[in-house]
Amino acid sequence: MRILTRSRQIRKALRALRARIPAKDWQTISAFLSRVRAETAWRISGIGEAIDPISAALQPLYTLNPWILCGAEIVFVLPIYRLYTDSGMIGVAAHEFAHALRAARHDDDWPEKMGERQLTPAAIRKYEAEERRANAIASSWDFRAQIRAMREERGKFVNPYIRSHEIQIRRHIQQRDGYLLSPGP
Ligand SMILES: [Zn+2]
Repeated sequence: MRILTRSRQIRKALRALRARIPAKDWQTISAFLSRVRAETAWRISGIGEAIDPISAALQPLYTLNPWILCGAEIVFVLPIYRLYTDSGMIGVAAHEFAHALRAARHDDDWPEKMGERQLTPAAIRKYEAEERRANAIASSWDFRAQIRAMREERGKFVNPYIRSHEIQIRRHIQQRDGYLLSPGP
């Protein structure tokens, strides 16, 4: 596992994880993950060009041509991640590492097994079950308070912040990318 970010907040969270995740789980996760990196830009989700509220994600890595699964990464989306408190940021990181432990226990079909973000009722149920399992693992690592902080902050602050700053964020993205988004959902 290579750490490809200098973000002070992420490094601090990773140190907290390293200190508490049992050695056996840590070994499994660090062998499974190819890299941990950060993105500094806001993301626009494909559906309706909304601001993507995801602060971090476990993602598969593929080779091109042929298209073969070749690894996994955790990506932190810094503009969102930084909206959390220190405790919430550790909760987010623990949650993603818990997903990685679960994925490591699957075969190469883990991206399908773990549920993609689709909008069918079955896919949403699968996704939510996976979310609960990840939170349960993170809590078993002694991050119960941080998982609670993550969930509370997401509902009370992070998502409302994104909604109330939608116009400014979209203007910022337009200036960055030099193209016009539609007026918004
Ligand atoms: Zn999750």
